[in-house]
Amino acid sequence: MTTQLKLKKYISINGTIVCKTGLRIGGSKEELEIGGTDSPIIRDPVDKLPYIPGSSLKGKMRSLLEYHYGRVGWKYDPRKRRAYHDKMSGEPCGCQQSLDECPVCTIFGPHKASGHNLGPSRLIVRDAVLSDSSKAELEKLTGEGLQQAEVKTENVINRRTGVAEHPRHMERVPKGTTFNLNLSLRIFEGDDEQKMRSYVDEALSLLQKDYLGGSGTRGYGWVEVKELNWSE
Ligand SMILES: [Zn+2]
Repeated sequence: MTTQLKLKKYISINGTIVCKTGLRIGGSKEELEIGGTDSPIIRDPVDKLPYIPGSSLKGKMRSLLEYHYGRVGWKYDPRKRRAYHDKMSGEPCGCQQSLDECPVCTIFGPHKASGHNLGPSRLIVRDAVLSDSSKAELEKLTGEGLQQAEVKTENVINRRTGVAEHPRHMERVPKGTTFNLNLSLRIFEGDDEQKMRSYVDEALSLLQKDYLGGSGTRGYGWVEVKELNWSE
């Protein structure tokens, strides 16, 4: 990376996130309102519509790449000027290495690092807002007393008696709901554009094999990314 950072262009990446199963991204209890549940989902404070925060999406894309390339727990020692692996650390990658060695630090920004010379994080992940068609669909639920979401009740089965206990009421966005995916990739002079594109693309394909939001290992948050479009 040269010291003279010059922005060449932005690549805009748009698409549709389709929830193949119910999606749950938790909000705060303070927002608990009429017809509230134990665990509300996150909503826009103004229009009250569910959305996928850019931070959740970015964090998930990043962590999937970290697992895929074995970058979890990598750090940088400024005194020895080298990257090292801290096996006991579960922290995001902060190795500060270039794109050749680390797919994460340049694109997403190194974790807890100041004074690195990778330049600004290349990927901007915007909040994914509800699509217009889903807005209309979910409005119908409001008529049924639900706030653009479904409430799913879950129990723990007592292993000895077989009886359901501790019912919890989890709010989630119903399956079939769609959100507008919107990313912007900044390409600076000297950046390997093809490599950056392929890492972003790979993060999105890993996302579809994994899950978004909470409770993914028990069925929530299976998403598909459709109509992906890259433009400059
Ligand atoms: Zn790294």
